[in-house]
Amino acid sequence: MTVIAAAPGPATVTYRLQPIDPGEADRLRASSPDAPRYTADVHPGYPCRQCLRDAAVGEEVVLVSHDPFTTDSPYRSASPIFLHRGGCEPPQDLTTLPAQLTGRQLSVRAFDTGAMMIDAAVIEGTSLAATLDRFFALAACDHVHVHNASRGCWATRVGRAR
Ligand SMILES: [Zn+2]
Repeated sequence: MTVIAAAPGPATVTYRLQPIDPGEADRLRASSPDAPRYTADVHPGYPCRQCLRDAAVGEEVVLVSHDPFTTDSPYRSASPIFLHRGGCEPPQDLTTLPAQLTGRQLSVRAFDTGAMMIDAAVIEGTSLAATLDRFFALAACDHVHVHNASRGCWATRVGRAR
């Protein structure tokens, strides 16, 4: 009798990107008239945290401070982020990791429901999917915050896939 092993199905994505809320992004744009503005002169180089793509050369971004925490904790803090100055839309696909993340060195921080850090790693972006799978395999892991490792810009929150 021949036993045929089942072909592996598509990998189950354990996470879902949760970029900045569009309303909060618009509020930051409107409430920061004196925030530094830049016209992208290189690509990649100015990662917008609403649409999760780097500004194309010639596109204008604004640099603002954003607190992505929704719960008080000792780790709660605001971080710098770029946003397209004229507005943009969140990505349609929130389960595919964008080049903005996979192409950079990242600090990836896992939190429980009380916003206490339970694990963290500095990784190359090419390892982000594996790192998210590893963190969400922890029962206590409620969400993850991803930052650029070098300059500390907040990139995105990542939640557990429902
Ligand atoms: Zn954008």
